[in-house]
Amino acid sequence: MRELQDTFGRKFPYIRLSITDVCNFRCSYCLPQGYKKNPRDIRSFMSADEISRLVKALSELGVKKIRLTGGEPTVRKDFFDILKDVKQNSNIPKVTMTTNGYQLKKIAKQLYEVGLDGINISIDSLNRETFKNLTGHDRLLDILEGIKTLQGLNFKNIKVNAVLLKGINDTEKDFEAFANFIENNKIDFRFIELMETGDNLEFFKKNHVPAKIFKDYLEKNKWVYQTNGRDAGPAINYINPEFKGKFGLIAPYSKDFCKTCNRLRITARGDLRLCLFGNTGTSIRHLLQNDDQKEELVDLVISQLRLKKASHQLELGDTGITPNLSSTGG
Ligand code: SAM
Ligand code: SF4
Repeated sequence: MRELQDTFGRKFPYIRLSITDVCNFRCSYCLPQGYKKNPRDIRSFMSADEISRLVKALSELGVKKIRLTGGEPTVRKDFFDILKDVKQNSNIPKVTMTTNGYQLKKIAKQLYEVGLDGINISIDSLNRETFKNLTGHDRLLDILEGIKTLQGLNFKNIKVNAVLLKGINDTEKDFEAFANFIENNKIDFRFIELMETGDNLEFFKKNHVPAKIFKDYLEKNKWVYQTNGRDAGPAINYINPEFKGKFGLIAPYSKDFCKTCNRLRITARGDLRLCLFGNTGTSIRHLLQNDDQKEELVDLVISQLRLKKASHQLELGDTGITPNLSSTGG
């Protein structure tokens, strides 16, 4: 079988597939003014048929995992048609999603029934007021109930992500609150270090905290570093026998972060992005128009990989063409 490999020997079995840029939340680091259509980009989002063709081609390239993301993927009216198709009509073994969880309570059963293999839910604070201030929505309790519903269905692979933010969730007390949350919950909780994007420089300057402070907390509190398995992705995980859940850390500014890169991104408008913070995006949309184009599409994706660079330049403030993560698929 053909597979996706770059000139540095890295393999790419994992695709983050954005299906919309639209989001109903207003997270301060991502879309502080809420979603606004970019008047310069008149292209529509990929249709369910285009996504279906794309995913079938990717499965022929050895892709083992696809994560549906956005924007908020569940705002799409045809979200379940897309999910069902990716899950049932392609040979991708693992189909997961990232969501802000705002309608989790309502859709948990359907997600379980479709056979979703994992879910990442973003919760930056377990304090209701802080959550509301950060996202513009008083939905924390609903989201937590949604998680309970999933657990009641015995849904296995639940991860919660929070962006580490100065003065918002970066104190020992905040870390304890998350620790209490995973003590009896079999949930992987991960902090993501805040990344600078094209639109968030002021917020970044004010709120960025190095991931090390959480690492120090973990090491001080007897959490033990768990070695990563193959294709494990960028999170470093920590375990503690007294807790059902795990802690993790995604530190994009760390020295060797890009060495283990195993993912490519495809935007909702059908651009292949080799790096979240790269300067190029190649449209593959014209090759998603009919089933006969599959070979051409596969060739294009393989040839693009030769252009993938060793590392991003984020530490130099080069955010590439990413204005915010909702537009690229975080
Ligand atoms: N709307 C969904 C959600 O929030 O989970 C999916 C898309 S969102 C862009 C994906 C993830 O990116 C979320 O966990 C979010 O917190 C994270 N994110 C967004 N902007 C970020 C930034 N500037 N730095 C670090 N993480 C960011
Ligand atoms: Fe929406 Fe996710 Fe961005 Fe928050 S992080 S504004 S939920 S896309």
